[in-house]
Amino acid sequence: MLHTGVRRRQALEGRLNGHAEATGGSGISRLDGVTFDAVVVGGGVLGAGVARELARRGLDCLLVERWDFGWGTTARSTRLVHGGLRYLANYDFGLVREGLRERAWQLRVAPNLVTRLPFILPFYTEPLWKRLQLRAGLTLYDLLSPRGSLPRHRGVGREELARIEPTLSQEGLKGAAMYWDAQMELPERLIIDALRAAADAGSTVCNHVRPTGLRREAGSVTALELTGERSGETAVVRTARVVNASGPWADETLAAMGIRRPPLMRLNQGIHLVYPRLAEHAIAFEHPDDNRLCFMVPWQGGTMVGTTETDIATIGDAAIRPSEVEYLARATRARFRTPEAEQPLWGIVGVRSLINQPGRANRVSRRHVLVDHATEGARGLVTVAGGKLTAWRSIAAEVVDDVLGSRDRDALRPDPIGERVPTQTEPPGRDDVAERLWRLYGAHAPEVVATAATDPWWGEPLMSGESAIRAEIVHALEREWAVTLADLVHRRLMLGFGPDLGRRAAEAVATVCHERLGWDEGRVSRELVEFDRETAERRLPILV
Ligand SMILES: Cc1cc2nc3c(=O)[nH]c(=O)nc-3n(C[C@H](O)[C@H](O)[C@H](O)COP(=O)(O)OP(=O)(O)OC[C@H]3O[C@@H](n4cnc5c(N)ncnc54)[C@H](O)[C@@H]3O)c2cc1C
Repeated sequence: MLHTGVRRRQALEGRLNGHAEATGGSGISRLDGVTFDAVVVGGGVLGAGVARELARRGLDCLLVERWDFGWGTTARSTRLVHGGLRYLANYDFGLVREGLRERAWQLRVAPNLVTRLPFILPFYTEPLWKRLQLRAGLTLYDLLSPRGSLPRHRGVGREELARIEPTLSQEGLKGAAMYWDAQMELPERLIIDALRAAADAGSTVCNHVRPTGLRREAGSVTALELTGERSGETAVVRTARVVNASGPWADETLAAMGIRRPPLMRLNQGIHLVYPRLAEHAIAFEHPDDNRLCFMVPWQGGTMVGTTETDIATIGDAAIRPSEVEYLARATRARFRTPEAEQPLWGIVGVRSLINQPGRANRVSRRHVLVDHATEGARGLVTVAGGKLTAWRSIAAEVVDDVLGSRDRDALRPDPIGERVPTQTEPPGRDDVAERLWRLYGAHAPEVVATAATDPWWGEPLMSGESAIRAEIVHALEREWAVTLADLVHRRLMLGFGPDLGRRAAEAVATVCHERLGWDEGRVSRELVEFDRETAERRLPILV
């Protein structure tokens, strides 16, 4: 059982992880009858974290993802690695402390992905007692942080503020505080790192595959039925343990596995608007309408503004609503009186899986849900959902403790992501391509460089004016389980965040796939249509 996976994965690897996927066939029929110690359903940050942790503890694990790794909530979050200042108001100190510990760890071990982010908290009309309360909250936040992980907060006078953030509205400004948190600009890339670590330890990873049935005997799980989302291929894998980590789709996934029960979670959507760059610092502010804490975060050359909290009945109801766009746009215009603040470029909607309890959504705990389905006749099946991107490692450790019925005290020791020391802990000089490869691929950057070295053509820029190189496409298809054009552009090469939402990059990638990687013209046009369909959900509704 322990690490038999390494050898077996090598046998399965060429068929499941290589170009077979890139042609659209999932190849999963080859898994038919294979036994796994555990199967993880869902390739968001929690599923990837659980697979990494299972593999780290020596289990032979399979992870299946329906639409692509990081496609779900993880890529629709504010992308902050934080304790959560607003959770202090709920007296959820344990949750804040856990986040701050995990923030310190990730800043240390994943410097290419997780970076320090200074926040400005401006004070406008708040009465003195409110300002003192906010400063007291920041002091507590500092005290809960591991010592020395980030600078402590400090006051910022009006003059300094006008100098460091000249476009921030000065009207009624009384001063500000500056505090520090962290940001993971590309959690999609962290998921790939965690999956690579799991695969290196012997796990099998399948993209565009979902469960379509759960087999049970005497109330215990014995096997999982799988179907390839694109190929329609099927397989039945044997296993006694299944972890449902399908985020806000968890109730849907349970239904597809034949588990009948009342909904586990309360679904609550949050949107973000993306603007051209508005400010150099992140800005935390209370929304003028209802005093909710919102953020403007510098991100990928622009500014992300969020978020909203709107309960929805089913996951299919998630969509950017005009009222939410207006709510965030109003606050943005109030804070920045510049032309850039007039028109958001695009938006994104994500769905929180909250513990199913009544009350205002921002008062409901952001803790994760961990449910054992033994009482529903499925011993061995557990669901994990909710929680925070920040705490992915500690939630994964708790899930695996639960699945195995034993606690591993080493799970939260300060080891690097991927169980290896990054080859570079500092950005490699000022070369744009080297900097980009380090940011995206971290310890795996030399693999991309090696691919580029096979033929100078692969080392060429993908498009003029971009530091992305053609070799990244091969790397994503061969080593990162990318299948579709949208997988490549949006969640591997990370080129979909500009005003054109990646359309130019999609054409460039499709051309390379056509010229060198065997995509015929029919495939290219189908992929572009699918790319446009997926990307359309980021367009903003026209406001009347
Ligand atoms: C608006 C918003 C802002 C947030 N901001 C922050 C923040 O700043 N910091 C922070 O720490 N946290 C934040 N969070 C919380 C954080 O994003 C989530 O806790 C985290 O991403 C959850 O990850 P997950 O893996 O559980 O879910 P997901 O990322 O949704 O992953 C679930 C995966 O399962 C797949 N799937 C679904 N159904 C199936 C199926 N049947 N078979 C196979 N696969 C399936 C999906 O495609 C998806 O990839 C935010 C959340 C929201 C909504």
